[in-house]
Amino acid sequence: MARVALVTGGSRGIGASISKALKDAGYDVAASYAGNDEAAEKFTAETGIKTYKWNVGNYEDSQAGIAKVEADLGPIEVVVANAGITRDAPFHKMTPEQWQQVIDTNLTGVFNTVHPVWPGMRERKFGRVIVISSVNGQKGQFAQVNYAATKAGDIGIVRSLAQEGARAGITANAVCPGYIGTEMVRAIPEKVLNDVIIPQIPAGRLGEPEEIARCVAFLASDDASFINGSTISANGAQFFS
Ligand code: NDP
Repeated sequence: MARVALVTGGSRGIGASISKALKDAGYDVAASYAGNDEAAEKFTAETGIKTYKWNVGNYEDSQAGIAKVEADLGPIEVVVANAGITRDAPFHKMTPEQWQQVIDTNLTGVFNTVHPVWPGMRERKFGRVIVISSVNGQKGQFAQVNYAATKAGDIGIVRSLAQEGARAGITANAVCPGYIGTEMVRAIPEKVLNDVIIPQIPAGRLGEPEEIARCVAFLASDDASFINGSTISANGAQFFS
C-alpha cells in the first residue's frame, strides 16, 4: 500500500513541487493550505492531489485537519512541515505582531504539524519528518530577525526529534533552501533581487522549487534511512555551514 504523505503549504510554491514529487514517487499525498482557495482548487484540478484548509499556527485546527487527512487517506507516515511566511522589517521597525505572526506560523506551526502525527509514527515504528528551514536560518538576514529565529529553530527541532525518534524508526531532517523563485521571493522588489540578492549566489540564479522537492523526496525514501538530524543545504553555493 502507498505511504501517506502530508505537505503543509503544499498547494503553492515549493510545497506544490514537493507534493508533486512525492506523488510521482508513489505516495498518497495530502496538501494543506491557509486560505487561498483558488490556488488550492487549481492545484487539485491539475494534479489530483487532495487539498485541506487549516491554519498551522493553531494546534486544535491542525489536530482536526490531520485527523481528516488520516480518515481520508490513512495514517500519515511522511510529514513535510513546509508552510511558512515572511513579515520582514528592520529590527527597530519590527512590530510585536510581525514577530508573533512569523513565530506562530513558521515555528509553532512545525510543532502543531508534527506533534499530532508523532505518536502514530512511534507506534508503527516508521516515520519521516522533513522541515523546510532556510539559508537565512543558518546565516541570519537583515530585516528578518523573526524569520531567521524560526528557521534556526527548525534545525534545533529536527536535531532533537532525531534523537527521540531514532529507535522508533523515525528520521527528522531539515532542508535549507537558498533563494527559490516562488511568489515569496518574487515579492521582493526586483531591484533588490537583481542588484543585491542574485549577486550573492555564486550559481548566478534563483533555485527552482523542483530542486528542493527532489531533496525532500530523497529524505522521505528508504534510501535515506540512516540520515537523521541532518540539514541539506540547497542554495547555489551561497552559504556553507
Ligand atoms: P509560498 O508563499 O509560495 O507558499 C506558502 C504556502 O504555505 C502556501 O500554500 C500557503 O497557503 C501556506 N501557508 C502559509 N501560512 C500558512 C498557515 N498559517 N497555515 C497553513 N498554510 C500556510 O512560500 P514558498 O513556497 O516560497 O515557501 C515554502 C517554505 O520554504 C516556507 O517555509 C519558506 O520559509 C521556505 N523557504 C522559501 C524560500 C524561497 O526562496 N522561496 C527560501 C528558503 C526557505 P495559501 O496558499 O493558502 O496562502
